[in-house]
Amino acid sequence: MKIQVDPKKCKGSGECIRICPQGAISMRGDVAFIDMDKCDFDGICIPACPHGAIYFSEEA
Ligand code: SF4
Repeated sequence: MKIQVDPKKCKGSGECIRICPQGAISMRGDVAFIDMDKCDFDGICIPACPHGAIYFSEEA
């Protein structure tokens, strides 16, 4: 399980960066990037994204 950003939906608006309590999200170019070493999978960023770009993934 991990958290992913859909690069087609991400608009780079940065709401997720501001709300993440772990400081796990940064911009890589125009798309948000989540550092899995910092993320604690609380899922706070998922509803924070107005574009629905962040989601839980079953991928390892
Ligand atoms: S799930 Fe929580 S810790 Fe992980 S990137 Fe989103 S807000 Fe940050």
